[in-house]
Amino acid sequence: MTLLDVSDLEAGYETGQVLFGVDLSIDRDEVVSLLGRNGAGKTTTMRAIVGADEPQIRGGSITFDGHDLQAAQSYEIPKLGLSLVPEGRRCFSELTVEENIRLAANHANDPLDVATVFEQFPELNKMRNRLSKNMSGGEQQMLAIARSLVANPEMILLDEPCEGLAPYIVRRIESIIKEISDDRNVTVLLVEQNVAVAMAVADRHYIIDEGRIVDEVTTERLKTDTELRQEYLGV
Ligand code: ATP
Repeated sequence: MTLLDVSDLEAGYETGQVLFGVDLSIDRDEVVSLLGRNGAGKTTTMRAIVGADEPQIRGGSITFDGHDLQAAQSYEIPKLGLSLVPEGRRCFSELTVEENIRLAANHANDPLDVATVFEQFPELNKMRNRLSKNMSGGEQQMLAIARSLVANPEMILLDEPCEGLAPYIVRRIESIIKEISDDRNVTVLLVEQNVAVAMAVADRHYIIDEGRIVDEVTTERLKTDTELRQEYLGV
């Protein structure tokens, strides 16, 4: 059953149109990636879905769990069960790990227990009193995911969660994504430039290039189709 449906989405900025008829359809419990080069339109797609101030939407429809997201205010969207972990992590740097998680829980309709989230992230439990500004990039990324998870979402959008992280942290983020999908039945849309990460966690992949979805492939095809990877992902 479709949870998120993006149909014929046209969106852009004052400087010009960026998305040209983007279609995405994600079923409940799937883990799907949106792959594309720098500037292909991945973040613009994520921001359009969650009703950010920018980009402006110029056409098409976005439906989540039967709700027309364009008719919703951006602050209402997390309460519908859709949560974005933006690029760049955005935790409150002067708050501790635990305060960051509790603050996110306080803003949610039906949050998980903070203890449940700490069980999922034992490394955060060990540093629950640390200020977020004193954490490594990988730890901050885990905290950003934990903040999203405590709101007990149906679906999480992850915008390049592994960017700039050391390989061992990338492996841990991959396993966290699998765990929140398997243990908590959270549906995931993962935005990536890193094909290896996308193949490690997602079952299905949309490829975006110059604001258009140019293909939709299985992990098997992504592994074997070197021409496709070269043309649209440069690897
Ligand atoms: P990256 O991996 O670099 O984040 P991306 O695939 O997420 O790439 P977007 O960030 O969506 O790509 O950018 C798509 C296009 O939109 C680019 O040409 C970019 O310059 C432009 N763009 C992004 N944000 C803005 C903005 N706030 N104002 C104007 N143009 C923008």
